[in-house]
Amino acid sequence: MSSRLGLMLVICAPSGTGKSTLTARLRAEFPRLGYSVSCTTRAPRPGEVDGRDYHFLDQAEFLRRREAGFFAEWAEVHGNCYGTPRQALADMLAAGRDVLFDIDVQGAAQLRASMGGCHVFLLPPSLAALRARLLGRASDDQAVIQKRLANAPGELACAPGFDYWIVNDDLDAAYDRLRAVYVAEGLRPALNPGLLDAVVHGPAA
Ligand code: ADP
Ligand code: 5GP
Repeated sequence: MSSRLGLMLVICAPSGTGKSTLTARLRAEFPRLGYSVSCTTRAPRPGEVDGRDYHFLDQAEFLRRREAGFFAEWAEVHGNCYGTPRQALADMLAAGRDVLFDIDVQGAAQLRASMGGCHVFLLPPSLAALRARLLGRASDDQAVIQKRLANAPGELACAPGFDYWIVNDDLDAAYDRLRAVYVAEGLRPALNPGLLDAVVHGPAA
């Protein structure tokens, strides 16, 4: 069977909705799915590993890379800078791998304009639930949590521009929906250019 092209799966949500939780599960189930490890000027949270969760940079180094065209997209989010390294993304797509992005709405808009992709917006069941999750995660101080909650309505206002909405109410149910989107999007003809020929004429020698 002919191999298909890599899919770009972009996931956005207000902080605390459950992006990391759901994307970790998807990556564990689908090893073909590569992850775009972003650069950030934010300090590491307990348990985060440099190079795995993020590439942690200071402001000067981030700006240097930004000016050198290192990022496929970048944005300032909740007072820190975040960006997607261009080369690592190109390498994964060239190898035919799918790539998962956990990025903010500004970065998603930039990627959609330059490279397309499938864009999923995760919704919290309510703003009260979002607050409870941010408090429950206990990874940020009060001021950081307040800032993230204050930014949520503006992020939610961008949801109409997305291809799919998934409410992360019950975790298992939300995961099933995300999984369904990922599997279905990989079946698009545009990602399978050699498939019909292979069916009609047999596989290329
Ligand atoms: P994000 O990456 O969007 O900022 P996280 O994945 O870190 O969010 O999730 C924030 C908190 O909410 C975590 O403590 C996580 O365990 C919890 N959480 C995620 N999904 C659910 C859910 N469906 N129901 C209840 N709690 C959840
Ligand atoms: P956190 O600090 O909670 O890890 O992430 C804060 C926000 O930054 C989240 O909305 C996350 O999706 C976003 N983010 C992470 N990496 C990138 C990136 O490379 N580019 C952009 N534009 N946003 C990012």
